Amino acid sequence: MPDPILNIAKLDAFYGDFQALYGLDLTLAQGEVLAIIGANGAGKTTLLRSIAGLMANQPEQIRYRGEPIGALRADQVAARGLALVPEGRQLFPSLSVEENLIIGGRVGRKGPWSLQKVYELFPILEERKHQASTSLSGGQQQMVAIGRALMSNPDLILFDEISLGLAPIIIKDIYDALPGIVGGGMSAVIVEQDVTKALAVSSRVYCLQEGRVSLEGNSQTVSRDEISRAYFGIE
Ligand code: ATP
Repeated sequence: MPDPILNIAKLDAFYGDFQALYGLDLTLAQGEVLAIIGANGAGKTTLLRSIAGLMANQPEQIRYRGEPIGALRADQVAARGLALVPEGRQLFPSLSVEENLIIGGRVGRKGPWSLQKVYELFPILEERKHQASTSLSGGQQQMVAIGRALMSNPDLILFDEISLGLAPIIIKDIYDALPGIVGGGMSAVIVEQDVTKALAVSSRVYCLQEGRVSLEGNSQTVSRDEISRAYFGIE
């Protein structure tokens, strides 16, 4: 594998006294799409939140392009080219679609992504650009959340529960858009409940179980048996 751009070593994460991640190791190469799977509560969201600067981690536990970022704030992490598409989208409800997208462009960096490019990726958003973001369907809101992240011109995009609760046709639209997002050398970490989809879009997969990596494998060659064991902890 080429030099990883993201290197996570012995990552612990806590909510108060509760430990959610235990000594987790993970690497990601430039341009790679990584899938994270695992049962509810396994720590997938906590892992993404740690990378995005939303948990209190030790500096050296997360390195991005060789630099320790584990203790940076979310805005400092965004400025280095990492963007999170959070679970539940977390749009600004009183703002329009376009205003939500523009806010994404205020953090992060300059680069190829613009309103125009986001509208080319998701044409429905241009039709709805003046509407309140809350008036959109869940799937369209997910498109706004993805567009908002892209507007910060990330090198690494983190998708939490990319298709959870969305209609199948919208999930297809979002997955069809993925090559246009990650095609230009952008890397991605995708948390996905649907194991088949997770394996189809990624080159490597990590399965988490109770805050630990229970499996790391090649998405094309890992077996269903291995995944079941890693997912459920069945011996
Ligand atoms: P899900 O698929 O349900 O979102 P997940 O794999 O993303 O699950 P996390 O949300 O990372 O899991 O949660 C990991 C553990 O941390 C769980 O035991 C959860 O109950 C706990 N946890 C998550 N958020 C908090 C919080 N704000 N305060 C306390 N504990 C939390």
